[in-house]
Parts: sequence; C-alpha cells; structure tokens
Amino acid sequence: MTPDALLHPRPEGLYCPAGDFHIDPVRPVARALITHGHADHARAGHGAVMATRRTLDVMAIRYGAGFAGSTQVPEGVVEVNGVRVSFHPAGHVLGSAQIRVEKDGVSVVAAGDYKRLADPTAEVFEPVRGTVFITEATFGLPVFRHPNPQAEIGKLLTSLTRFPERAHMVGVYALGKAQRVIRLIRDAGYDAPLYIHGALKKLCDYYEGEGIALGPLLPATSDAEPKDFAGRIVLAPPSAFAAKWGQRFPDPLICFASGWMQVRARARQRGVELPLVISDHCDWGELTDTITELDPEEVWVTHGREEALVRWCALNQRAARPLHLVGYEDEAEE
Ligand SMILES: [Zn+2]
Ligand SMILES: [Zn+2]
Repeated sequence: MTPDALLHPRPEGLYCPAGDFHIDPVRPVARALITHGHADHARAGHGAVMATRRTLDVMAIRYGAGFAGSTQVPEGVVEVNGVRVSFHPAGHVLGSAQIRVEKDGVSVVAAGDYKRLADPTAEVFEPVRGTVFITEATFGLPVFRHPNPQAEIGKLLTSLTRFPERAHMVGVYALGKAQRVIRLIRDAGYDAPLYIHGALKKLCDYYEGEGIALGPLLPATSDAEPKDFAGRIVLAPPSAFAAKWGQRFPDPLICFASGWMQVRARARQRGVELPLVISDHCDWGELTDTITELDPEEVWVTHGREEALVRWCALNQRAARPLHLVGYEDEAEE
C-alpha cells in the first residue's frame, strides 16, 4: 500500500478508502474523524464522529447535543474497518489532536492545526512518527516568527497603566484564543475581574470545568455604566467591536490577539490600535523544526502557504507536496 492509497484528498476532505472515513470533512459524511473543535474543522451533521472527549464536548457546546448520529472517544489504538487509528495531542486548543492512521506498515500522521510553544490551556504536542507527516502551513513563510506571548501581554498591561481612562477591548476568538489570553493575563499577575462578551462565556466555563483556572470573569453586557469600563480589560470576538455592542465603551482602545497581527496591513485594516501577536499555530521555525525532528519519508502540506514549505523541504532534500485541500480558512478562529 502507498501512503496515497491510505489517505488522499477528496472534495469532502481527506479520505481513507480502507477505513471508509474522512478526517475533518467540510461536508456531511457517514464517518468523520475530527482533530479539533474550530468551526472549519468540526462541522455538524456527520453520521459517526470520532474525536477526543474534549473536542466532542466543544462540538456539543457549539452545535447542541444532536450534532452527529453517534460519537466515539478513541481509547489508545482503535481499528476502523481494519485501519489502525490513534489520536495524539496537537497543542493547538483544548482537546486538539493529531490523527495517526496505519495499515500494512504504512502510516500517515495528520497533525491538523498544531503548535509547539508552551500553552497551559492546551495539551502538550506529542511528536508522532509516520511514513507521512501532514502539516498545516498557516504561517508557512520565513517572515513569520511569533514573539513571546507573555511579552505581548506585557504590552497590554503597560497600555492599561498608561491609559487608565480607556477601556481596553481585546479581540479574541471564542475557542482557545480567549482562554489562552485570559490565562496569560493571569500569569502576568493581573487578578482584577476581566469582562467578557456573552459569546465567550460557555467555552470559558468549560475550560474552568476542565481545571484551567481563568480567575474572575464578569459579563461585559451587564447594566454597568460605560465609565465603569475605564481602565478595564474587555474581551470579545473581534466582530463585536464593529457592532452596536462595541460602541458604548468609553474611548475604546482596540486590541486584537492573533498571529496575523504581525502583518501591519491587517492590523490597520481592522482598526487595531494595539496588535497582540499571539498565535495558536506554528510559526516558520516551529514548522521546519518539527519536520526535521519527525524526519518522515514524505511531507504533505495543507492549508496556508503550502508552496513555501514545500520548497523548503525540496531545498533540504525532503520529499514533499501540497495537498490543496479546500474549505479551511486561514483567519477564522486563528
Ligand atoms: Zn484550528
Ligand atoms: Zn485550521
């Protein structure tokens, strides 16, 4: 069996004919294996879904209990129609996993979205060997070097002391980024209440329930006077700032926590005054270091800047090719 016969792209997503399952399908399928809960990877409406307990919990929170025909949490190595399947932590968001599939001595590790940087709100990435390693390439250009996230949070706290009359509005996506930013703020020693938009509450509660302490969180939608938010940190999905909800805060200072904030034009476009470069994806160094460390026979590259990473592999005498999967967004929930 060739790796390509074991797993290959289809319009619905990566497909394993022997096991008759898709990984992170973008359309409803009979059997789906899902790496993590971000909306472009985890969709509702599949027949049978296999994922970590935490990813299944996140899907139930977002889509309701009936999001799939049936669900299964893999324990160790499971057989799916004769294909050996196992899940391993990816370090991206809580519950995120890489999926390893193996048959007849050929194995493919689909890493999904992943990062190597320490993050107390996600399980630690586990290096997993296989014939083929499928890597994402969201930040797959040598210009992408993520700074120390704690230093980025330091900029936010410095700004708070410099502008105590301004509400500091931090744009964060609801799954992963919100809780990571909150935890970074706490680890920097800030223990005053943080104000959160209603869209963040359920997932913050879930992280708390899973043992990730986030400190005091208050609703930013309470009937507090706008002036009560002066010198406070308010966290919300970025879209909320443009909406009416975002207009009532006093002299808002717009921040946005995203790996994309190292692209100045993107920050400007979004009207971001204080960009915080905090990413839940690998930067260029993490991507290339991971490929070097795992040393697979072949590298397949998916969503993001596929060509640059493929070229890097070629320059380093590594077999590699782009997968050209469609349906995954480079910015949504980054
Ligand atoms: Zn993701
Ligand atoms: Zn993704």
